[in-house]
Amino acid sequence: MEKKIRNNMLIISVLVVLITYICSGISLYWSMMASLDREVKGIASQISLILKEDTDAFSQMSVFSESRITLIESDGTVLYDSIKDSLTLENHLNRPEVQRAFEKGEGRSLRFSASQDTQTYYYAVVLGNGICLRIASETHSLNAVFRSGLFVTTIAVLLVLVAAVQFSRKFTQKIIQPINQIDFDHPKENKVYPELEPLLENLERHEAMRKEFSANVSHELKTPLTSISGYAEIMANGLVKDEDIPVFAQKIYDESRNLFHKIEDIIKISRLDESKLPFQLEDVNLRAVIESVLEHLESQIEKKNITVQLELTDVIAKGIVSVTEEILYNLIENAVKYNKVNGTLIVRLSENLHCVHIEIEDTGIGISEEDLPRIYERFYRSDKSHSQQIEGSGLGLSIVKHGLFLLNGEIKVESTLHQGTKFMIDLKKHA
Ligand code: ADP
Repeated sequence: MEKKIRNNMLIISVLVVLITYICSGISLYWSMMASLDREVKGIASQISLILKEDTDAFSQMSVFSESRITLIESDGTVLYDSIKDSLTLENHLNRPEVQRAFEKGEGRSLRFSASQDTQTYYYAVVLGNGICLRIASETHSLNAVFRSGLFVTTIAVLLVLVAAVQFSRKFTQKIIQPINQIDFDHPKENKVYPELEPLLENLERHEAMRKEFSANVSHELKTPLTSISGYAEIMANGLVKDEDIPVFAQKIYDESRNLFHKIEDIIKISRLDESKLPFQLEDVNLRAVIESVLEHLESQIEKKNITVQLELTDVIAKGIVSVTEEILYNLIENAVKYNKVNGTLIVRLSENLHCVHIEIEDTGIGISEEDLPRIYERFYRSDKSHSQQIEGSGLGLSIVKHGLFLLNGEIKVESTLHQGTKFMIDLKKHA
């Protein structure tokens, strides 16, 4: 984190210094040129006044020794030049500033020296007598302006780099310190930055869910254990007639199996909770998984005399075998458990280019409209399944949902009370 902050700071600081350097260089150059223009214009108006009084007053031009002054006739012949002998000078009509002055009254141009460090600014104006007065003044070029600021700018960049490194270290510590001091047992009580509020809310929600899960687990395990110890106590006190002992023993056996299944489901969901992506994806033969689940449930299917209809194609999907087995086992087991005697169970498996589609349909007790939105909640069991004394932990569909999340799959359900339920799964073929 410190490295990231430091690098960003370095980039921003250097950019700021460079942009400031470029902008101030350009604005300095502009203001320098504007004042030069004002200056040469001032000289031009003074010379025009002198020449008005005395047309041959060339000697007085030396007052303006810093600028080169040239007087040019309308045909381009140089009448006077303050630096060179006018007779040695060529015709000046082709000079851009002179041409422009004869056209528009005044003209300007800029010519660079060979070194590009200096440049000459030319200002030409046509006087009342038709003669063109040209003033040339040497000044620094933009190049030279930038070069003059280079040393100071380099020092500034170095200072800024050192400051950014120091500042980023302090800044990172300042950000990190309150995060390290967060009390994870009471996330909402922490006073950190507003930006961390969503994280703290998430932690709080997680903590609440964890507490609720533990409370539910204890409650779910206590119920069958209470029955088991109750039956066992009655038997131990000799309160059960000999002929009733098998009945009580069966009850203890059923409750202990119930307890066993619940513990198994709790372990499964905890394991899924702890699972971290990415998994090693493998080929899953879905047809084989469905057939193996049905084989495991054979005795329950026979007990209820359920007719199984299979509409399966050979589909291989990329996924996790154990998770896929878990999902299909829970859904098919529910379709058997909540089915009616002599009911029907239909399993369909199909695929298209990207997706695998699985349907598990039963003609069982169905799910009411109020129960439907809650069936994936942990430990949720509808009143109907309770009243019909169907064994279960209420964790099966949470396991399904969790598993599908890992496989990037989706589930939908349609159900009509007393008529049946259809679960539809879409799995990505390549997860
Ligand atoms: P359980 O262990 O109770 O079966 P699940 O999480 O698998 O737990 O299911 C939650 C509840 O959803 C069940 O108690 C039941 O009321 C309802 N349910 C799930 N599948 C079916 C189904 N195929 N037909 C009717 N009800 C179902």
